Amino acid sequence: AAISNGHEASSFNIPPIKFTKLFINGQFVHSISGKEFETVDPRTEEVMTKIAEGGKEDIDVAVKAARVAFDDGPWPRMPGAERARIMMKWADLIDQNVEEIAALETIDGGKLYHYCKAFEIPAAASTLRYYAGAADKIHGEVLKASRELHAYTLLEPIGVVGHIIPWNFPTTMFLAKVSPALAAGCTMVLKPAEQTPLSALFYAHLSKLAGIPDGVLNVVPGFGPTAGAAISSHMDIDKVSFTGSTEVGREIMRAAANSNLKPVSLELGGKSPLIVFDDADVDKAAELALLGILFNKGEICVAGSRVLVQEGIYDEFEKKLVEKAKAWVVGDPFDPKVQQGPQVDKKQFEKILSYIEHGKREGATLLTGGKSVGNKGYYIEPTIFSNVKEDMIIVQDEIFGPVMALMKFKSIEDAIKSANNTKYGLASGIVTKSLDTANTVSRSIRAGIVWINCYFAFGNDIPYGGYKMSGFGRDFGLEALHKYLQVKSVVTPIYNSPW
Ligand code: ADP
Repeated sequence: AAISNGHEASSFNIPPIKFTKLFINGQFVHSISGKEFETVDPRTEEVMTKIAEGGKEDIDVAVKAARVAFDDGPWPRMPGAERARIMMKWADLIDQNVEEIAALETIDGGKLYHYCKAFEIPAAASTLRYYAGAADKIHGEVLKASRELHAYTLLEPIGVVGHIIPWNFPTTMFLAKVSPALAAGCTMVLKPAEQTPLSALFYAHLSKLAGIPDGVLNVVPGFGPTAGAAISSHMDIDKVSFTGSTEVGREIMRAAANSNLKPVSLELGGKSPLIVFDDADVDKAAELALLGILFNKGEICVAGSRVLVQEGIYDEFEKKLVEKAKAWVVGDPFDPKVQQGPQVDKKQFEKILSYIEHGKREGATLLTGGKSVGNKGYYIEPTIFSNVKEDMIIVQDEIFGPVMALMKFKSIEDAIKSANNTKYGLASGIVTKSLDTANTVSRSIRAGIVWINCYFAFGNDIPYGGYKMSGFGRDFGLEALHKYLQVKSVVTPIYNSPW
């Protein structure tokens, strides 16, 4: 990979970190235990600050606040249009603070500053507006039950929601979870990932300025097995919405079952295929495939980590792909020329490198990359393996890093079979000029999203979630709103109905 000299990055003025405590009942408070944990800048491996570490007892306090806000507070009771007004104001405050939040994302998670500033954070503010727009349009139906019954449904907020989110898209995940739940009239406790608590605390601060009442939104940073498990096993949380790994998803579901049988929605891992057919524009397809695996350093659950290319164009595709990967710029994520920053932390960095070693040992061909970059920070070269077999670990496991498995196929049937040959079913992509091919493949793939001649095309109204072991339930779209609503049927008898 090309390496940036970082001149433009070093002149960047990073703002101080303002919020490091738990946000409970509208206040920033210390953890009851007094414990703190360190948060590390993945660019430098240096500790930036300490964050109050929420534990079970802090989750209890936060849930109590959310319960009171739900049972007695104004939020679920106010007209939807009023909730919308406050949510819109919050979205405006996010836009006004975009530079400061983007810097937090970069030092916390190694994400590209300019991408966060220009795309991710404005898009997340637009998510808030999308659901604000739905807040006064939530209603049930009148049912034509039978002659003798007048029946209708009420859509009620589900109650106190627990959100557990990962570290790869702290902003997107925060607002994708919180916005529909707020629109529905729920109150909530959110645990950001321990790797990336900073933006969540900033959003909490802005939510208060916008006028979200105390107790409606509580943000408790902490670790998974303590604070996270306290949410999933809590007897007074009515619903858990989780995004993260398949292993942890299983734990969450078990904890929910073992406590109060709260419904859960799980957005889990993936090993998504991008299928490139012979009729594709090879250059454009190679570019798309590279972006599919390298966007956000491969730390994205819908990464196109398996690239399946039809044999007629395979050789040319492979050549172009490798050329492009070698020109991809890795370096300080504040530098506008840089396309890929450091992996989020040491654990992920080492895990990815060990997968790469595994790939080599299993006999895959390392076409490019394979090593870390520099001697400071968690940077990894864009890495491409070819000559992979379907049962290899690098083809089956979610690596969550810049590592692609490149494969060759003959027929459309082979491609479909191979694309579906994992335990996951989150996303997929097809590159073809043939409408027939696109239609056939999109109906044959068992995944929650199919991108045709594009990848990572998201939208507030486009539901997002998994088939198979990629989980269930959808974020985004009106689908997500319904995760936070209960349906109540109200039935009265009618005597002497005329029709
Ligand atoms: P990892 O950090 O290994 O990639 P995940 O991506 O699954 O793990 O983590 C996603 C979120 O789940 C994080 O907020 C994490 O703290 C939380 N978490 C981890 N373990 C548990 C658990 N046992 N119960 C509840 N939440 C957990």
